[in-house]
Amino acid sequence: MPKKASAKKPAAKESKTVLFERVAFIGIGLIGASMALAMRRAGLVRSIVAVARRPKTRKTALDLKIVDEATKDYAKAVVGADLVVIATPVGTNSAIAKAIAAHLKPGAIVTDVGSVKQAVVDAIAPHLPKNVHFVPGHPIAGTEHSGPEAGFAELFDNRWTILTPPPRTSAKATAKIEEMWTKIGAKVARMEPAHHDMVLAITSHLPHLIAYTIVGTATDLGGDLKQEVIKYSASGFRDFTRIAASDPVMWRDIFLNNREAVLEILQRFTEDLTAMQRVIRKGDGQALEDSFTRTRAIRRGIIEAKQA
Ligand code: NAP
Repeated sequence: MPKKASAKKPAAKESKTVLFERVAFIGIGLIGASMALAMRRAGLVRSIVAVARRPKTRKTALDLKIVDEATKDYAKAVVGADLVVIATPVGTNSAIAKAIAAHLKPGAIVTDVGSVKQAVVDAIAPHLPKNVHFVPGHPIAGTEHSGPEAGFAELFDNRWTILTPPPRTSAKATAKIEEMWTKIGAKVARMEPAHHDMVLAITSHLPHLIAYTIVGTATDLGGDLKQEVIKYSASGFRDFTRIAASDPVMWRDIFLNNREAVLEILQRFTEDLTAMQRVIRKGDGQALEDSFTRTRAIRRGIIEAKQA
């Protein structure tokens, strides 16, 4: 019988190059676990060790085969690692940098995934020895879920990661981190940390603050009304509750560590909100329609850029 022609071409054999012999993740939640899984998928690493404080986190990371070793001992984890990824809430970064500094292998690269960059650079860089390379980063990808069980290898596919290397960072180390992100599916951009913080204040931090506030307002409503908000929750409110379900500690640390940029953007938003209030009071339908037409175009742009 003639062999049936296959509709699909055979997949090109992917060339897998090991970039790192041993990677240590400090924190193995949504982002750390997703990176570990994506690095394994791309064959970039031989062994992965993770640090987490709670036995349950360590057990989950081991049971799901996200990591080869799990420990609560920072020193034990980073000894011999050629890459250390700090993937904990940003408020922990200074203490973690101090705890690992003396145990890092000469020539190792330290990176992070924190949602804020200037404060993270200030918290980590001063503690690291001179013979270690620090390449800060932030993947613009995530969900409202936390912990290693929330991780998945495809999280970064076609999403941006922003690197903010300080001026004298080794070009070779930065290129290696860029290669790692590209091989786990991401597109990479470079920015000044302060500029990153301003961009993210508007695209991520303010929307989260609004979501937390709206859901908070609903939570504070009295008895029956509150029940009805939950029962008849329309899609607008439902979308906000998803965002407002994000990890409280992580978001506390983001607002505390990106205070200036968030306050600046919040000021502009408050002015725009007041203008909207005036337009509604005046019954100016044209102004409302014009404004909503402009914002619709932004959504189209995001869809066209495949970032929806
Ligand atoms: P997550 O799911 O809550 O995971 C945090 C991990 O850190 C857990 O494994 C936790 O385990 C561990 N941890 C917390 N404090 C620690 C400490 N002091 N020492 C060692 N381990 C510690 O958080 P995530 O969403 O992965 O976020 C991690 C980082 O990624 C944050 O800096 C966040 O800003 C950034 N980020 C998040 C997103 C997102 O959408 N979630 C997107 C981009 C960037 P134990 O509790 O057992 O210690």
